[in-house]
Amino acid sequence: MNDILPDEAGLWLWFEDVVRDWLESYGYRNIRMPLVEPTALFKRAIGEVTDIVEKEMYSFEDSLNGDQLTLRPEGTASCVRAVLQHNLLYNAPQRLYYSGPMFRHERPQKGRYRQFHQIGVEALGFAGPDIDAEMILMCARLWHKLGIRDVVLQINTLGDLAARHRHRDKLIAYLEQHKDALDADAARRLHSNPLRILDSKNPAMQEIIAGAPRLMDELDDEALRHFEAVQAILRRHDVAFEINPRLVRGLDYYNRTVFEWVTTRLGAQGTICAGGRFDGLIEQIGGKPQPACGFAMGMERLLALLQEDGMENPPPPLDVYLVHQGEQANALASVVAEQLRDTGLKVLLHCGGGSFKSQMKKADGSNAWCAVIIGDDEAAAGQVTLKPLRGGEQQRIALAELPRRVGELVNKE
Ligand code: ATP
Ligand code: MG
Repeated sequence: MNDILPDEAGLWLWFEDVVRDWLESYGYRNIRMPLVEPTALFKRAIGEVTDIVEKEMYSFEDSLNGDQLTLRPEGTASCVRAVLQHNLLYNAPQRLYYSGPMFRHERPQKGRYRQFHQIGVEALGFAGPDIDAEMILMCARLWHKLGIRDVVLQINTLGDLAARHRHRDKLIAYLEQHKDALDADAARRLHSNPLRILDSKNPAMQEIIAGAPRLMDELDDEALRHFEAVQAILRRHDVAFEINPRLVRGLDYYNRTVFEWVTTRLGAQGTICAGGRFDGLIEQIGGKPQPACGFAMGMERLLALLQEDGMENPPPPLDVYLVHQGEQANALASVVAEQLRDTGLKVLLHCGGGSFKSQMKKADGSNAWCAVIIGDDEAAAGQVTLKPLRGGEQQRIALAELPRRVGELVNKE
């Protein structure tokens, strides 16, 4: 779990602003859920036979009442829980987003942390391929906005439940024939979650996986039409994609469209965004059946990509560094600082004393537009010295003129 220090946090703030604008431009509304939920919610929503539930959750017992709780490993379960609990789907479908920390007990490495941050986007109550495609188009627009290149879109369809059951039977029969070659994870999942075996990253498994029966061959017409419609919209918008028949979600409630945006520039942790349709989840969590679709982006991975492209932490936004020395001057300085802030300016009031020279050095390094300098003689005369820090002559001016003069300086660029 990492600290995000001020030298990095500016980039996070900038990124969060861009993301918020982008989400609002598609009509998504913010929702904020607690970081902790009953463990049972995640078991039910994510599935018992998954990496997350089997080995990645931070679960604990509430020592006051014995409740079994878990730090959220992802946001979809909490979001759907909140929507059902507050009956948000009663009147209209919902386009929602959230962002924040998620927790998974994984082996930390580049692009993989135990506390990481996701932006999650969910469209609940929409059945058609148009919303699947809209989500993908949204992502494409965000990459464009951020100047991210070199990401590839992979899509697949998981069809509907009946097709997956037909495929599952064939897959189990096939994998049983190759039982000796399965690794421990695969052997364990053979009967509980065979689809997930197709997602194995173990090189030794790749040959068996390549020869496995294809879900694509079992799809019903309606699911195929849905998938075709998604592709048609993507083509109409010139969004390039690859169909990756091995892109899966190993849970019963995932169906039809799945997609991932992948880059080769972050090593093995190359998926920056993953999503798809999960028409079964709302019912699984106890609601009336409703279609749903969503995706989540890993913020650390996206920021790593931006940093690779040379993006730097923006300097702190500061308008005025206020330098002061002398008893009268010090008293006046804090009043002036508040007056400037009243007009909307960002003001750093020097604290801790020191010579004019050492204070000016700090002002020069502060990224402020200007220094306002107050000594006792200025204070006595009702004046201040205004010194532009990005070119220009310093001037002594009347105190009453200061807000206007600083305003002009700051708005020049
Ligand atoms: P992976 O196959 O990389 O483990 P996942 O399928 O577990 O990914 P999702 O649950 O789909 O990942 O999460 C969506 C996104 O969140 C991922 O594409 C990735 O960008 C990010 N993400 C997931 N786990 C981590 C982590 N431990 N640290 C940083 N980012 C993560
Ligand atoms: Mg994972």
